[in-house]
Amino acid sequence: MSNSAISVTGTTPTDALGRVLLHEHLLSLLPGPWTNGRGIDDSICAASRALSGLRARGFKTVVDLSPYNVVGRSACGENVTLLPEIAKEAGINIILGTALYLEAYAPQWALDASPAELTHRFVADATTGIGGSNIRAGIYGEQATSLGEITSFEERVLRAIAVAHRETGLAIMTHTTHGTMAREQVELFRTEHVDLDRVVIGHIDTQLHLQLARELIEAGVLIGIDTIGKQNWDFFLGPTPSVRPEGKYEKHAFFRSDIGRADLVAALVADGFASRIILSHDLTGAEVWMNPSTLGQWGYSYLDAIFLPMLRERGVTESDIDQMLVRTPARLLGGAE
Ligand SMILES: [Zn+2]
Repeated sequence: MSNSAISVTGTTPTDALGRVLLHEHLLSLLPGPWTNGRGIDDSICAASRALSGLRARGFKTVVDLSPYNVVGRSACGENVTLLPEIAKEAGINIILGTALYLEAYAPQWALDASPAELTHRFVADATTGIGGSNIRAGIYGEQATSLGEITSFEERVLRAIAVAHRETGLAIMTHTTHGTMAREQVELFRTEHVDLDRVVIGHIDTQLHLQLARELIEAGVLIGIDTIGKQNWDFFLGPTPSVRPEGKYEKHAFFRSDIGRADLVAALVADGFASRIILSHDLTGAEVWMNPSTLGQWGYSYLDAIFLPMLRERGVTESDIDQMLVRTPARLLGGAE
């Protein structure tokens, strides 16, 4: 594996990445529809302002892990050209993910694509560029599965990502909907001969089941404690229709404390698993609004300012923190030619 990462401005040596936020979305930071973000000038301005405190806290790299058609990424990806401008404004390395989100949010081209076409797209994203640009993906993700099920579309895309990973060597990060289907994702990747040491199963901190976390790590993958600060959850199941019918509709709401997240990370680190965990916020404008005391007050600084001290109180060492925020991300993002 090479010692450079593919960033929006070319390649960056992995030893220059500093602390890394591996799961963020830089084009949907303004409160508003989380799928589409806002206007161009607003997006650049909002993202560079939001990123401005990070360098002083040792973070030099942020991964925009946005799939096609959601969290600010346009349906065909052509708006990735905004990211180099944000990187320049903010003085931060930005690395792009590429993926498809839940079936309910998939763009038509993806629903119509054959497995070979999907693979071709993901390989091209990593080798020539996304959405007709020459800006390449440096990681696959967040590749998603639904709540309690993997639809046939989602399975087709997971397999296409797996084949593209074998060809390009890029690491894979997933989205589990509230921790469900995590074991099934691992099993699918195993049957596709994916290098499990380059797979992060995401959002394992939305359930806080220590046993599930241990089981996944022992199966050979890494886990994402990647919704830090998102204590309040309140979401509709499936996409919001433009005209909502009269009557009841299904919605999930729950509280997931950062104390619980810190306890989970500390227990896993005590087990010797620091090298199998990554940390991030998955911050968007909508969640900032729903979590005023955490992400609303601190933004991207929350992890360093509030969460890391909670880990230290629980016996997590500086070396463990370095492992989760610097060494493991560098290993995962390395692989550019
Ligand atoms: Zn995300």
